[in-house]
Amino acid sequence: MASDMFVVPQTRGTVLCCKCGISMAPNPANMCVTCLRSEVDITEGLRKHVTIMHCPDCDSYLQPPRTWIKAQLESKELLTFCVKRLETDLKKVRLVNAEFIWTEPHSKRIKVKLKVQKEVLNGAILEQSYVVEYVQQDNMCDSCTRFQANPDQWVASVQLRQRVSHRRTFFYLEQLILKHDAAAHAIKIKQMDQGIDFFFANRSHAVKFVEFLGKVAPTKRFDLFASKGGY
Ligand SMILES: [Zn+2]
Ligand SMILES: [Zn+2]
Repeated sequence: MASDMFVVPQTRGTVLCCKCGISMAPNPANMCVTCLRSEVDITEGLRKHVTIMHCPDCDSYLQPPRTWIKAQLESKELLTFCVKRLETDLKKVRLVNAEFIWTEPHSKRIKVKLKVQKEVLNGAILEQSYVVEYVQQDNMCDSCTRFQANPDQWVASVQLRQRVSHRRTFFYLEQLILKHDAAAHAIKIKQMDQGIDFFFANRSHAVKFVEFLGKVAPTKRFDLFASKGGY
């Protein structure tokens, strides 16, 4: 009877965590999830710094090997781009969430906070958040480079200007232009302080573009100019 005093009462199928001693379902490490979390870093080996190419002239980002994606800071498009750059890393873990962390717009740095999960040791799922910093390197994109080499090739330009009272409309209009690929024939799109300039090598393309703008937005809300003899 006396030896029974030293038997620890145990439920069948549980063991004690080798680190903190809590009763738990057995796993190969015999360590509870809380202790595993403190021992295992599931973000180990995942990149925390990524260099990205940014064209300062048209505000687009290089999606290797050679696609330039136009995206504004904090936009859904930019977040998709950032996550896509981590494709190989995200094969090792499961992405749960991604969101921007605010950075100063002129810092040439973008920060994204990612939440990932990974199964370790027979079904224990660990979840962890980490931050990836994207360092922006300015590099002119192909079309801007071409344009710079031969800046006089355009025959018509459309200058879209926002009015302060209609900032939201302007943003919406930009999204529409992207969505409909309406400026696909522009040989250059240049971000200006208060708007965007579109350059066309062909007058009829410029006219079509202006017609598109007239259809999707009341022209009262933005200013339109044409150069090189009008259209
Ligand atoms: Zn433990
Ligand atoms: Zn560019």
